[in-house]
Amino acid sequence: MVEVGDSQTSLEELRAEVEQCRRCALSRDRTNIVFGSGSADALIMFVGEAPGYHEDQQGQPFVGQAGKLLEKLLGRIGLTRDDVYIANVLKCRPPGNRDPLLEEIDECRVYLERQVAIIEPLVICTLGNFSTKLLSGRPDGITRVHGTPQPLPGSGGRISLFPVLHPAAALYTAANLKILEEDFDHLPQLLDGKAVEPLPGAAVDQPQQQPAPETPSEPEQLDLF
Ligand code: SF4
Repeated sequence: MVEVGDSQTSLEELRAEVEQCRRCALSRDRTNIVFGSGSADALIMFVGEAPGYHEDQQGQPFVGQAGKLLEKLLGRIGLTRDDVYIANVLKCRPPGNRDPLLEEIDECRVYLERQVAIIEPLVICTLGNFSTKLLSGRPDGITRVHGTPQPLPGSGGRISLFPVLHPAAALYTAANLKILEEDFDHLPQLLDGKAVEPLPGAAVDQPQQQPAPETPSEPEQLDLF
């Protein structure tokens, strides 16, 4: 258990570690790591996919158009970026903004898991398929599970996982934006501590550090949807 007040220090120590990371090939072409930003004591944490061009340049998550939409959605529920913590599954940018590879996720996931352990949010809002599948430990796609809270495996029911669409999917699609807005409107209820039931067929309390999906012999990509 990380004491309140120590979490900022612990995050800074972890950031320093990630800055030296060479666990996967993405380290070769990065301009900056994109560790995460926001409050170390946040009650809600958002987890996206991977840095894009602007994030890599600035070393900050969600600084492009998708980031602006995320800020707007936060505003709907009376929050700002400073009230929450925002991170990605991968801390380095995949070339050409391609999808993360399973082996990259497998190498990098330890950092996200440590961020979660330090921050200990009440709610983790996964943005899109990659973070949802990784943190739920289930193969269900985001279009099926968005807007349905579930306990984060391994958290003993203390942390709710709340999948929503990735903001990038709602930038130019009005129907997706409506879905995203409606899902965001449920977040305050979760922060109020409403009980979260496991999804049918879900393991109630699996260890959080589960093995990654089997790494294929050829590089394989997951889908945003
Ligand atoms: S993506 Fe993650 S595992 Fe790969 S080099 Fe960057 S920090 Fe390390």
